[in-house]
Amino acid sequence: MAVPKRRTSKKVKNQRRTHIKLSVPGMTECDNCGEMKLSHRVCKSCGHYKGKEVVGE
Ligand SMILES: [Zn+2]
Repeated sequence: MAVPKRRTSKKVKNQRRTHIKLSVPGMTECDNCGEMKLSHRVCKSCGHYKGKEVVGE
């Protein structure tokens, strides 16, 4: 089995991972208040999800 000859430096490791985080946070705009929220989650600022109020204020 092939084994790496040298330890990957922090610089190279970070350079390789620069594009990984772009897709991870599933952030979308809330339909109700326009705030950024996690997709498939109830909006934190207004408590709406799929056009209905789920969390009472
Ligand atoms: Zn909202």
